[in-house]
Amino acid sequence: MARILVGAPVAAALMEQIKRETVLLAARGVIPVLALVRIGGREDDRAYERGIVKRAGDAGLTVRHAVLPEDAAHDKVLELIRSLNTESAVHGILLFRPLPAHLDDAEICAAIDPAKDLDGVSPGSLAAVYSGGIAGEAGSAVRGGGFAPCTAEACIALLDHYGIGIEGKRFVVVGRSLVIGRPAAMLLLHRNATVTLCHSRTVNLAAVCREADAVIAASGKRELLGAVHFSAGQTIIDVGIHLRQDGTLAGDVNFAEAEPLAADITPVPGGVGAVTTAVLLSHLVRAARRAGAGI
Ligand code: NAP
Repeated sequence: MARILVGAPVAAALMEQIKRETVLLAARGVIPVLALVRIGGREDDRAYERGIVKRAGDAGLTVRHAVLPEDAAHDKVLELIRSLNTESAVHGILLFRPLPAHLDDAEICAAIDPAKDLDGVSPGSLAAVYSGGIAGEAGSAVRGGGFAPCTAEACIALLDHYGIGIEGKRFVVVGRSLVIGRPAAMLLLHRNATVTLCHSRTVNLAAVCREADAVIAASGKRELLGAVHFSAGQTIIDVGIHLRQDGTLAGDVNFAEAEPLAADITPVPGGVGAVTTAVLLSHLVRAARRAGAGI
C-alpha cells in the first residue's frame, strides 16, 4: 500500500506559518493585500477565487477584487495592472488565466511587477526561476523579484512536508508548460535533483518514467500515465485535474493502476491542488514583508 500524500496537512502547516507572519507584520502596521484580477466570470476562476478569499480571511489577509468585464479592452487590462503595480497598499497580484481570447496574454503577464507577481507569470519571475535565483525560505522566492509559479512550488512543498528527498534523486516531469512542467523541473534542479523533462514528442515515455525515483505528472491528459509507466517504489505527484462525465475528478495518473506500485502518491482531488492556494498566500506574506522592509 502506497503512502497517500494528502495535501491538507501541507496546506495547514503553510497556513500556520502564514498566520504567524501576519501577526508579526500587523505589529509593524502592515496588512498584506492581495489583488485578484479577473476578466469576465469563468466558473473555474470564481471557484478558485472563493477558495482564496476563505483562506486569506482565516489568516487575516486582505483580498481586493479587481474585476473587468469579459470584453474588456486590452488597454484597460494593462491600465488596471499598472495601477496595481504602483499602488503601495497592494502587495501581490494574481491574474486569473486563461484570459479571454482577444487579450494578449504575454503582454499582460509581462506588465505585472515581478515583486508583486505571486504566481510567477512575468518574464522577470520566470527568468529568475530558470537562472537559479531562488531564495532559501521554502525554496520559493525569486531573489530580488517575484515568485515561482504556485502549482510548481506546491509539488516541492508536498515533497518537503512528507520528507521525500530531492537531492540526487532522478525525477521525470511529464509536461513542459511554462505554468507547471518547466518551472517544476527548474525548482527540482535547483534542489540538486537529476531531472528529465518529457513532452508529447518524447519517445517511449513509459520506459523513461519507469527509470525515475519520482514522477511529476503535468500533461493535462486525463489518466495518461498508468501501470506501464511506473515501477515499484516510486513517488508519484499528480498535478492534473479533470472532470469526468459522472462529475468525479481524475488526475493525469490512473490512480488505481499506479497506487499498488508506488511508495508515495498524491490523490486527485486532495493532493497538489489543496496546497496551491496556501503557496499563493505564503508568497503574498513574503511580498508584504519585503515591501515593508524596503527590499
Ligand atoms: P498544458 O499547458 O496543456 O501542457 C501540457 C504539457 O504536457 C505539454 O508540455 C505537452 O507537451 C505535454 N503532453 C501532452 N500530452 C502528452 C503526452 N501524451 N505525453 C507526454 N507529454 C504530453 O497543461 P498545464 O497547464 O501545464 O497543466 C497540466 C495539468 O495540471 C492539467 O491537467 C491541469 O488541469 C493541471 N493543473 C493543476 C493545477 C493545480 O493546482 N493542481 C493548477 C493548474 C493546472 P507539448 O509541449 O509537446 O505539447
